[in-house]
Amino acid sequence: MAEYILPIQRLIDEFRRLPGVGGKTATRYAFAALNLTDEEAERFADAILGVKRDVNRCPVCHGLSSADICDICANEDRDRSIICVVENAKDIITMEKIRGFFGVYHVLGGALAPLDNITPDVLNIDSLKARVAEGGVREVIIATNPTPSGDTTASYLARILEGSGVTVTRLAYGIPVGGDIEYADEVTLYRAMEGRRYFN
Ligand code: ZN
Repeated sequence: MAEYILPIQRLIDEFRRLPGVGGKTATRYAFAALNLTDEEAERFADAILGVKRDVNRCPVCHGLSSADICDICANEDRDRSIICVVENAKDIITMEKIRGFFGVYHVLGGALAPLDNITPDVLNIDSLKARVAEGGVREVIIATNPTPSGDTTASYLARILEGSGVTVTRLAYGIPVGGDIEYADEVTLYRAMEGRRYFN
């Protein structure tokens, strides 16, 4: 690829670091940035700096927060006896879309993958154990992804929480709403069968 003059090439290289942005898109973005007014460019740069400067990790759940404790942990109406464990902070936003979960969360910061050096000690597992040990928790819902590492993490958590007196559950995975059984793959169907509900 032809090299652009340095300031433009530098911006292209930065955009390329973003997920899902290839060379063509990065070049389009860089030229779009060139057309911004000074004020717009400053606002853009400041927004990027702002997420680094103003976003903190909640000390309780490790979710994202612009204050010390996040809005969910600070909310008196949330049920602290149910902790939903997710891999990443952005999963909380997804779970909140349900609008029917009133418990609290715990962000692991990833899933176990020993080959990539993601061992239990690098995830927020000790702090989960501590939250459970503090008492008052009756259920831990494991909402890690339905991937091999998400499954490994779920089994690991279930094992270390054994005997702590809390009920440990795992999200059921199955056929998407509006989907057709005919088009579901075997693993999805198997999961759906495993996670079936009783009507009575
Ligand atoms: Zn929190």
